[in-house]
Amino acid sequence: MQGLMMQQPLLVASLLTHAERHHGGQEIVSRRVEGDIHRYSYRDLAQRARGMANALAALGIEQGERVGTLAWNGYRHMELYFAVSGSGAVLHTLNPRLHVDQLAYIIEHAQDRIVFFDLTFLPLIESVASRVKSPKIFVAMTDRAHMPTTHGLSSMLMCYEDLIDLHHDVFEWPLLDENSASSLCYTSGTTGNPKGVLYSHRSTVLHTYAAALPDSLNCSARDAILPVVPMFHVNAWGLPYIACMVGAKLVFPGPALDGKSLYELIEAEQVTLSAGVPTVWQGLLAHVDAIKGAFSHMRRTIVGGAACPTAMTAAFRESHRVEVLHAWGMTELSPVGTVCSLKAHQLSLPVSERYAVQAKQGRGVFGIDMKIVDADGNALPWDGIAAGDLLVRGPWVAREYFGSEGQSPLRDGWFPTGDIARIDADGFMQITDRSKDVIKSGGEWISSTDIENVACLHPDVTTAVCIAARHAKWDERPLLLIVKKPGSGLDANGVLAFLDGRIARWWKPDAVVFVDTVPIGATGKVLKNQLRDQFGDYYLTA
Ligand code: ADP
Repeated sequence: MQGLMMQQPLLVASLLTHAERHHGGQEIVSRRVEGDIHRYSYRDLAQRARGMANALAALGIEQGERVGTLAWNGYRHMELYFAVSGSGAVLHTLNPRLHVDQLAYIIEHAQDRIVFFDLTFLPLIESVASRVKSPKIFVAMTDRAHMPTTHGLSSMLMCYEDLIDLHHDVFEWPLLDENSASSLCYTSGTTGNPKGVLYSHRSTVLHTYAAALPDSLNCSARDAILPVVPMFHVNAWGLPYIACMVGAKLVFPGPALDGKSLYELIEAEQVTLSAGVPTVWQGLLAHVDAIKGAFSHMRRTIVGGAACPTAMTAAFRESHRVEVLHAWGMTELSPVGTVCSLKAHQLSLPVSERYAVQAKQGRGVFGIDMKIVDADGNALPWDGIAAGDLLVRGPWVAREYFGSEGQSPLRDGWFPTGDIARIDADGFMQITDRSKDVIKSGGEWISSTDIENVACLHPDVTTAVCIAARHAKWDERPLLLIVKKPGSGLDANGVLAFLDGRIARWWKPDAVVFVDTVPIGATGKVLKNQLRDQFGDYYLTA
């Protein structure tokens, strides 16, 4: 027997319609590329998104066609989120930190019809344009007064504000099939070519519901949310959609992602919740410490994309009364998979035990099924000890990549994440490594993440990265690379002595190398493959 409920498709545009109707006066504040602060409301956003939808129709963009964006977090980017997806086209967010060849590859692969770009990226767009055939139209996301007068684009260059001004703001969002594509994001592709993940309206809306929940990212109409995580990186972890669903104030940092600019914006706009990768927070914390500042309203910060070191969780909590919400996800998961939200019985744990829980990536949100398996595919117990390949499934997990012609990455219906993890009896998952970063010493796994976490607790350590280095006897042994605090006299023996008793004896790295910096990739993560290229033979040549 069928249920007798309405068939209302889950559509991205409905998030905007809701925000306009119920939170029309709520503010969206953006630091612009032009340098000033712009503010308007959800009502304005909705109106201008409808104008842009009319403009896209006038430019001949049809349902299913891809529209690229190369832009910072800001209100015009937000307008495109809804104008493009809402009218049935596919929003393709491009990561400007990628190499120009990779960008050209992605734009060609996605067959983008138009690319919208922030003025910062004009030189990048010019280099890309000479390498691609697909987009014939480029739109500078600015007004007439700031339009570039000279440029190397032989294709058509248009002005964003002209497009809005020229078109009517009356537009009926089409009633799309909820399974149709809404946006496209390529993985950063540290190995091989980037792969496109094509989200649907349904997957996006379901992800929005789940990610907004109190034990997920915990967002409400009373929040002012500042996504530092870029809108070109898995849709800023879904926060633009979540903010519409719950009616939160949105604060966009634009191009200014240094500690000082972020701190000033957080304070001026009374931000309560922010989100970003650990490297960004290092800059922010260093600035706030240097000026002996405090956060007047910020109470929570979501840290994900890479493991959050306990030292960071402790610094936020002890110096600033800011709770870190450690989260794990992937482009293929829209991205939220797990969030480390404590259970009632963990709230009263001694601080060090609490931190040990918070170092984990957290519990699966409803909608994400997880399992860990051994090399033969057998499920491993959730005992907090056994570690294996992490597999997931759920309505916002990719089943294949864009343009991969039916080739599925799935294993028996499960998506192999490429992460190695353990899961404890409370359901808290902890990543011990990416499978390609794993250290296998004498046939046994050593968790590079655990070693990094402990090393970061040393007060003189800014960054710790542990990699597998080839070894004549043990195949591989851990090698620890350290960036130390300026002026510190820390030496290798000091680091190794600090690790004594804090990690298993045979996990102890055979050597410590001090470096000035570590390479960071397009999504803010340490590029371990580059470090392996550089230091992989350390034990063979030392
Ligand atoms: P890419 O592989 O292109 O960097 P993503 O940005 O989608 O793609 O990254 C997903 C990967 O990032 C995960 O599979 C995991 O290895 C890592 N990751 C994400 N969040 C965390 C976290 N909180 N702790 C450790 N690793 C994380």
